[in-house]
Amino acid sequence: MAEFKVPKSHPRYWSLYYRHKLEEALENGILATAGLIAHGRGEAFDYLIGEKTIEPAERAMRAAVAKLLLAEHPVLSVNGNVAALVPKETIELAKLLNAKIEINLFYRTEERVKAIAEVLREIDPDVELLGINPTKRIPNLESERGKVDEKGIWRADVVVVPLEDGDRTEALVAMGKFVITIDLNPLSRSARMADITVVDNIIRAYPRMIEIAKELKKKPKEELKAIVNNYDNGKILSEVLLHMKDRLEKLANHSIWRMKELPF
Ligand code: ATP
Ligand code: MG
Repeated sequence: MAEFKVPKSHPRYWSLYYRHKLEEALENGILATAGLIAHGRGEAFDYLIGEKTIEPAERAMRAAVAKLLLAEHPVLSVNGNVAALVPKETIELAKLLNAKIEINLFYRTEERVKAIAEVLREIDPDVELLGINPTKRIPNLESERGKVDEKGIWRADVVVVPLEDGDRTEALVAMGKFVITIDLNPLSRSARMADITVVDNIIRAYPRMIEIAKELKKKPKEELKAIVNNYDNGKILSEVLLHMKDRLEKLANHSIWRMKELPF
């Protein structure tokens, strides 16, 4: 794969940088081609929120981390996009939360599972990885899509499924799991079905959740429970939509024609 040669001064440097990472992941067998399409859809919504972490996402992340710290069997799910974008952060977050990591793929092939495991083991050779030989099935999902690890998602009480398909999110909710998703599209079925929806780019969300985990780890359980109890995902999704609407309205009034940088 050709080297990434875009100069840092390019106005869309980071967007191009992460696209390159995904192209590399595709070439290395980590990503399914559909992963590229999913990324593009995410980018479109990132443009709408302003490519920054918005307040409702910050509150969702705090509730998510609190819930994960209270969980008995927390699991972070990893797919191709996650492995391409935030492999180090996934491992660090899992350690902080005492969570298991499960490789869980929509388009599961043994080669891709192996390639993703390699990426994670290169970062930490001792990392415990589940989902290599899954023996259980999520009810109501046909064969490959439903496979889960008995020691991971199968017995988990709280699962994080970032950039996940809505059907699977719904099936996990139906199994009685508490489901947390990271999804830039507040209208996706995953976003609507999850118990906690973080509408943010995972490249910003996971580093921020690591910071929040370090902070909340020191708090008493009662305080964590209060954060979770006061959380309302329906309200958060509404706030995200209103943020988009207000921002678009303000930009419309501003007139963005020939403006090099958007003002907010
Ligand atoms: P659903 O099945 O939930 O209705 P979908 O079919 O539109 O959603 P999928 O491909 O199943 O989309 O899920 C991938 C989701 O991940 C998309 O909603 C996309 O917006 C989101 N996404 C892509 N890249 C990122 C990213 N970097 N950070 C956060 N979310 C992302
Ligand atoms: Mg889908």
